[in-house]
Parts: sequence; C-alpha cells; structure tokens
Amino acid sequence: MTTTYGTLNGKVALVTGGSRGIGAATAVRLAREGADVAVTYVDAKEAASDVVRRVEALGRRAVALRADSADAEEAAGAVLRTAEALGGLDVLVNNAGVGVLGPLGELSLAEVDRVLAVNVRGVFLASQAAAARLRDGGRIITIGSCMTQRVPGPGGTLYATSKSALTGLTKALARELGPRGITANIVHPGPTHTDMNPADGPFAAGQAAMTAVGRFGTAEEVASMVAYLADAAYVTGAEFSVDGGHAA
Ligand code: NDP
Repeated sequence: MTTTYGTLNGKVALVTGGSRGIGAATAVRLAREGADVAVTYVDAKEAASDVVRRVEALGRRAVALRADSADAEEAAGAVLRTAEALGGLDVLVNNAGVGVLGPLGELSLAEVDRVLAVNVRGVFLASQAAAARLRDGGRIITIGSCMTQRVPGPGGTLYATSKSALTGLTKALARELGPRGITANIVHPGPTHTDMNPADGPFAAGQAAMTAVGRFGTAEEVASMVAYLADAAYVTGAEFSVDGGHAA
C-alpha cells in the first residue's frame, strides 16, 4: 500500500508536551501530513510511547524525549536532540504548558516561578535553540490561550500573564527570523477537551457557555490550525483563535 501524505512530506517537527491532549493530536496530525515527529513529555512515558506508535503506524519516524520545559537545559536540549535523532528541524510547536488558576492573593511564589518557567522561559529557550537549528523556511508555532484575548472571570492572573507574553515573543520572532523565511505564529485555543480541562469538569458548563458555539473544542480542531500554519509560508507574526467564538 502506498501512503499519500500532505503538505509536510519529509519535514521534521518537534511538539513539546506531545504525550497528551493538544500536543498528542498535533503530533499525529503533522505525521499524517508527512512529517517525522519528536514529542517531549515529563511524566507520561507510556502515553508518549503510544503517540510514537501512532506516528509510526502512519509510516513516519517518531521519538519520545523526556524533557522538562521548566529546566533550561532540557528545554533547549530537546531541540538539539530532535535535530540529531531525526536529521534536522523544520517545525517547532511550543505546546507544553501548565495552567494554575486561583485568586491573586493565594498564588505562591513557587507557583509563579513554575508557571513562568514552563509557559514562558521554556518556550523562549526552545525558540532560541530552534532559531539556531531550523532550516530556512522553518516554522515556530506556539500555543497560547483564549485568556490572552478575553479573561472571562477572576482567577486567571498568572496564567493570562504567562500566555500573553508569548504573543510578544511570537511577533518579535517573526521580525527576527522572517529574512530566513522562518515564520512564527500563535494559536489561542478556547476551552478544549483534554486532561487539563475536561469537557465534563466542574467548571466546564460555564466555559462552554462563554463560546459562541456553546461547546468545548477538540484537540484535533486545534491541531488542524497548527497543521495549516506548519505549511503556510506567507503568514507570520499573527494570532489565531480556535476558540468557538470565546473572544467574539
Ligand atoms: P494537558 O495537560 O492535557 O497536556 C499537557 C502536555 O504538556 C502533556 O503532554 C504534558 O506531559 C506536557 N507537559 C506539562 N508540563 C510539561 C513540562 N514542564 N515539560 C514538558 N512537557 C510538559 O494540556 P492541554 O493539551 O490541554 O494543553 C496544551 C497547551 O494548550 C498548553 O499550553 C495549554 O496551556 C494550552 N491551552 C489549553 C486549553 C484547554 O482548554 N485545554 C485552552 C487554552 C490553552 P506529561 O504527559 O508527561 O505530563
């Protein structure tokens, strides 16, 4: 049987936090488009191995790398390990993230440091390492949040702060790397059914009601936008909401 791939034939992609949720769906979608894929994880080794098996079943190469985005060396190192294992790098998807919500006065310094380390510093360092490794025409796609567009209630100070920083990073990367044909864009998911934010969780009904379409999104719906941006050469420095109208 001959497998027909899509727009990413022969490209190499790294998806941080690719063991579960939006990252796992993205890894599989990019493989379906023809990319070889590396995923990082911290705890879910078996889930990461399952993503590798799903990618390999599509006829593409895959590796799972344990790399904590909160660790500076590991965040940058995952980029280098991907390039070594799969022979270069064309697409970086900065997906790994943590969500800590709570009243401003109750957020501890440890929580502030942890969220900024994973959601901001890790993304910055991975992008920095990728800029040095990406082939010309490469892509940096970062997963932000609908909370950068509209904060629907209290408790989002830390998370919204962290995700909003990524918009500035994305625009600056677009300017710096544009001359090499490397694009940088950011995708803002709305409430999306994953382990982080299950559609049957205690705060789910209110989140669904905040959207125009009245429901949670799927990880695959976010992955579709990432796959488009992994192909698009004349789209850069831009923000894309995949949020069911949460920001409308
Ligand atoms: P999940 O919690 O379902 O999955 C998170 C993934 O990130 C896992 O693969 C996890 O690895 C990995 N991860 C977590 N911390 C680290 C770390 N320190 N280093 C490396 N990998 C890490 O999350 P989602 O799929 O829901 O979220 C993906 C992205 O989308 C995040 O950036 C999130 O903020 C953003 N987002 C999600 C929304 C939602 O409603 N779900 C809405 C808006 C944005 P492991 O399996 O090993 O734990």
